Amino acid sequence: MNLNPAELIWAAMQARQHAYAPYSNYAVGAAVLTEDGEVFPGCNVENAAYPATICAERVALTAAVAHGKRRFVAIAVVTRNGGSPCGACRQVMIELGPDMVVYIADETGAYRTTTVRALLPDGFDNASLLA
Ligand SMILES: [Zn+2]
Repeated sequence: MNLNPAELIWAAMQARQHAYAPYSNYAVGAAVLTEDGEVFPGCNVENAAYPATICAERVALTAAVAHGKRRFVAIAVVTRNGGSPCGACRQVMIELGPDMVVYIADETGAYRTTTVRALLPDGFDNASLLA
């Protein structure tokens, strides 16, 4: 699968427009690219009971899983200022897509490239359970 960061970031920007963020006013969009070339979008969905909030990255990944996808190659995340994925999302990414490339973009489309393993070094993963 050929990666096209700009297209994946664009998909995340589109998803960001659907963010439900009345409390933080911090809209986040994400888009995950599957190994077979499909893109699944996600946006943050907040809740008055704050812990029930779910991040854009986890919405995208869990939607892809719900469509039978298990192999991911990249994820793009867009916020107004290029904010990095939270700890909970890093944990989910190491579980579902430990080898993903991660594009972290701001609302202008400027982005930096990293990896899930760089975002969560020495993370707890399925190998930890099997050791
Ligand atoms: Zn998160």
